[in-house]
Amino acid sequence: MSQTSSVDVAIIGGGPSGTALALTICLYSKLTVAVIEQTAYDNIRTGEHVSASLLPLLDYLQVKEPFLADNHTPVYNVAAVWGNSELHARPSIINQIGEGYLLDRTEFDVMLAEQLVRQDGQLYLETKCAEGEQLEGGGWRLFLKDNSGESSELETRYLVDATGRQARISKRLGAKSLACDTLVGISAILDFEGDALLRAEALRERSKTEEVLIESIPEGWWYSAWLPNGTLIAVLMTDIDIMRQGKLHKQKQWVELLSKATHTKERVRGGQLVYPLSVKPAHSHVLDRAVGENWIAIGDAAIAFDPLSSMGVGHAITCGCDAAVAVVKYLINNEDRLLKQYQERVKLNFENYLSIRHRYYALEKRWLDLPFWKRRTQLAPIPLAAK
Ligand SMILES: Cc1cc2nc3c(=O)[nH]c(=O)nc-3n(C[C@H](O)[C@H](O)[C@H](O)COP(=O)(O)OP(=O)(O)OC[C@H]3O[C@@H](n4cnc5c(N)ncnc54)[C@H](O)[C@@H]3O)c2cc1C
Repeated sequence: MSQTSSVDVAIIGGGPSGTALALTICLYSKLTVAVIEQTAYDNIRTGEHVSASLLPLLDYLQVKEPFLADNHTPVYNVAAVWGNSELHARPSIINQIGEGYLLDRTEFDVMLAEQLVRQDGQLYLETKCAEGEQLEGGGWRLFLKDNSGESSELETRYLVDATGRQARISKRLGAKSLACDTLVGISAILDFEGDALLRAEALRERSKTEEVLIESIPEGWWYSAWLPNGTLIAVLMTDIDIMRQGKLHKQKQWVELLSKATHTKERVRGGQLVYPLSVKPAHSHVLDRAVGENWIAIGDAAIAFDPLSSMGVGHAITCGCDAAVAVVKYLINNEDRLLKQYQERVKLNFENYLSIRHRYYALEKRWLDLPFWKRRTQLAPIPLAAK
């Protein structure tokens, strides 16, 4: 028989936005929270390059110390091959306020979840929200199912969609995702451990070169970064139709394309692919409605950026903190002014972001007649497609 428990705020999704919202509520109010996360944080998590503006946010969440004690590396050298074939230190492309960090993303997400539990937040791992119904008089009853098939019910006054770019909950509640591209990231982790000599050589090279490299190519661009555990992540960013046409999600074609990227190929030399290639959606989108009756969408679910901006994790946490304040105000004082402001800000942030994105892509003029670049540099406003 399933049990029913209840909390003030239930958050579906235990990424940075979900745990930041839950932590803010635990730290700064007396309301109760539960985060429902479908994994045990045992999957590969992408999105590791963050700007230094993350630190004040972590301070606010009272997790700066555990963060600094963990295995994340400061970034000193960011370089880009963008606009011509030369390698330039161009921090302005992806990091507007100086030095940032390369995260061990799994460790980072786990740290936030652990701190939540320490602050008396509830955490359901390996659990999905199978269904939900709105209760008469407000609030929700959620039907949860864990990986072993065990069912339970959770009643909540307020529901938060923190499920990431797919915005699963908001879409089920009728919101539409307005996407302005079909960007995907096809990533691989490369290890140099197999041969001690190669490894030593790679590490020597690493100390001489940049930690993060962006390199534009006719089909899109490559991103590569040295991760805190000594492996290298290499990601091909392209549009889904270009990927399918060139079969770029297949190892052979991916490696072939990589071998044409003059600077990136040098970094991966001697590396062995550790896992099969992984394809992740990376499109820019905003929800037509990020706030509804007793629900709110946060982080990538509400608004997601091109990884070129390195804004994802920082924005997800800011969004979680802002939304928490608005939700608390609503639940305690029945006041929705901050919720309305939140909705307005989501819209405004996306408009600002689109113009910055256009400016960055317009710096690359070598392939203006090719689909990937044409789609991003055309002067006409980008049409938003509802999904
Ligand atoms: C290829 C790529 C590269 C990127 N690079 C960077 C970068 O360098 N720097 C940067 O700042 N950002 C980067 N990003 C973006 C960054 O990863 C995201 O912005 C950030 O993770 C958003 O956090 P979030 O909490 O909103 O969502 P997520 O981190 O996506 O978390 C969503 C969580 O919800 C869980 N979930 C989903 N559905 C359910 C469900 N039904 N029930 C229960 N749980 C569910 C998921 O398991 C996950 O834990 C990149 C993204 C991609 C795709």
